[in-house]
Amino acid sequence: MRRRLIAGNWKMNGSRESLAELDGIAAAAAQAEGVDVAICPPFTLIERATARVPALPIGAQDCHAVDKGAHTGCVSAGMLVEAGAQIVIVGHSERRAAQHESDAAVKAKAEGAIAAGLTVIVCIGETEAQRDAGEAQIVVTGQMRGSLPVAGGDRLIVAYEPVWAIGTGLIPSLADVGAMHRVIRGVLIELLGAERAATVRILYGGSMTGDNAADLLAIPDVDGGLVGGASLKAATFVPIIAAAA
Ligand code: 13P
Repeated sequence: MRRRLIAGNWKMNGSRESLAELDGIAAAAAQAEGVDVAICPPFTLIERATARVPALPIGAQDCHAVDKGAHTGCVSAGMLVEAGAQIVIVGHSERRAAQHESDAAVKAKAEGAIAAGLTVIVCIGETEAQRDAGEAQIVVTGQMRGSLPVAGGDRLIVAYEPVWAIGTGLIPSLADVGAMHRVIRGVLIELLGAERAATVRILYGGSMTGDNAADLLAIPDVDGGLVGGASLKAATFVPIIAAAA
C-alpha cells in the first residue's frame, strides 16, 4: 500500500521569517496518520528548516548529477544530504523551460540523487499547446522514458504537473487526471516491472488547494500532491494535508 505524500515546493520564495510556517505544517503532519508530508524550500533555508522541525522531511528543488567538481553555482545531492535534505525535486517544468533541462539531464540528476541516498521526485507534464494538439499522453510518456532513473525503488516518486495548471488556478478535469495517472502507472509497470511500479507514488501538481485536494486525491493512482503556492503558508497547506488524511 502506498502512503500518500503531500509535498510543498516553495520555488524561489521564502525567507528565514517564513520558516515559522513550518511549525504549523509539522504539527499538522504529526496528526495526519498515514500521510507523509515534506517541504522543499530554497537551498539556503534547508539546514535551518531541518533544525527547526526535525520530524518534517525537508527537500531541495534541484541538484547536480555528479557529486563534486568544477560546476560553479551548482549543488550536489551529497551536499543536500549533508545539509539535512531527504528529498529532491528534479525536472520541474520551470527548470526544463528556463534552464533548458533535457530528459537526459533530468535522468542524470535523478540517478545522482538516488545514489546519494535521497528520495527523488521526477516531474513530468505537458504544455497547453501540447494538450490542445492531443499530444499530452505522448509527451508525458516520452518524458518518463527519457527522465526516469532505473534504480530507486520506493525512493522514486513521479509528479504529474500539467504546465498550464501551474500557478493558474486551472486544473484538468478529474477524468483527465485519472486517465493520465493510469497511463503513468502503465508506463511504470513497463519500465520497472509490476512489483516495483506498485511502490512508486504518483503525485498530482498544479493549482492544488484545500478546496480541490479531496477530489483530486480520491482519484485512483493519485498518491498525493506536489503543491506550490498553497504550500507557502500553513493556513493554506494544512487543509491539503487534512484532505489526504
Ligand atoms: P502551484 O501549486 O502554485 O500551481 O504550483 C505547482 C507546482 O509547480 C509544484 O511544483
